[in-house]
Amino acid sequence: MNSIEKMNKYVMPTYGRYQISLQSGKDENAVDETEIQYIDFGSGIGTNSLGFCNENWVNAVCSQAQKLQHTSNYYYTAVQGDFAEKLCQKTGFVNAFFGNSGAEANECAIKIARKYSFDKYGADANRNTIITLENSFHGRTLTTLSATGQDVFHNYFFPFTPGFKHTPPNNLMKFEESLDDTVCAIMIEFIQGEGGVLDLDENFVKAIFDICAERDILIIADEVQTGVMRTGKFLAAEYYGVKPDITTLAKGIAGGLPMGVCLAGEKCKSVLGKSDHGSTFGGNPICCAAGNAVLDTVCADGFEAEVLRKGELFRKLLSEIPEVESISGKGLMIGIKFKSLSASEIAAKCHENGLLVLTAKDKLRFLPPLTVTDDEIKTGIEILKKCIGGQNS
Ligand SMILES: *Cc1c(COP(=O)(O)O)cnc(C)c1O
Repeated sequence: MNSIEKMNKYVMPTYGRYQISLQSGKDENAVDETEIQYIDFGSGIGTNSLGFCNENWVNAVCSQAQKLQHTSNYYYTAVQGDFAEKLCQKTGFVNAFFGNSGAEANECAIKIARKYSFDKYGADANRNTIITLENSFHGRTLTTLSATGQDVFHNYFFPFTPGFKHTPPNNLMKFEESLDDTVCAIMIEFIQGEGGVLDLDENFVKAIFDICAERDILIIADEVQTGVMRTGKFLAAEYYGVKPDITTLAKGIAGGLPMGVCLAGEKCKSVLGKSDHGSTFGGNPICCAAGNAVLDTVCADGFEAEVLRKGELFRKLLSEIPEVESISGKGLMIGIKFKSLSASEIAAKCHENGLLVLTAKDKLRFLPPLTVTDDEIKTGIEILKKCIGGQNS
């Protein structure tokens, strides 16, 4: 049995996989079991932020593995302290809770939001509703599925966690209508990733921040996909000039190891106390060491400007392709809508021609390693053009 047959037999078929079995990788290049090479414009799903097996990242992970792989959270470790400090200093948040995934980071944020209102307004106030946006994606646990504003995710697994309401993005009137005395928080993605790389309007974001501040409604920013320099800023919130009460990170934060972070600001820093929440593996030393390597790299002088510049290069080259109708997202989070071709068919062709890509709804999606080079960008776009067929401009 080859590895594809073996996984088909022994792993639950929850993913529609490309018929490629990857064997090794270095930086932005991967090799499959038949020795075919690929340029990587997906980085896992935005997880391998420094590419495959980046030298500093490998050294950080291996040297931590040789010292201490896990301790439980009943003990202190220097590596978790360093990681938390770096995150807070970079973002201006006060403290962090560590889990292992985006969904867990969001679960923590939801718990904080509900307990904040419980503590302040009492159980009788029933102030526990969380508003999220239609077309959002917040994770696969039952509660984060409830939070996710897409009906396709609300099947089979009843009963879902109550207390979530969905309102359309960029519609202030509908948003205001959704607010009542039971609302404790709203949760948003500044750029909806799985929903099709859709940016929220600046006016909408600023208005909802004002309204929520006035009514003591907490704002949770799900930056699981947009965070950690993906958009050319450390947090996408910086584009909007706003400061959420809670921000969640995962995907790219540890360069491909499992790590979810829930960051709390001043208002929420003391909501969760001893025994209120936990995670066996959360803040695992090897994952924290990986996170430190990512933060040291992406926070170095000039890195942010490079991500922005490379984002512009992608956009320039893509805009020259006649079949491209529109390009969305920011920095190295890129959604591409085609005039007539299907994104999933183009994605399949890209894989057949040595380019790993993602889709999101009706768009092709690029989340390349933040370390992608100009040459790789140009070569990858040439492959895309070939897959589109006959478009030479
Ligand atoms: C991927 C994603 C999640 C879920 O993260 P997991 O690590 O798969 O649990 C949550 N929110 C957003 C915005 C995401 O893109």
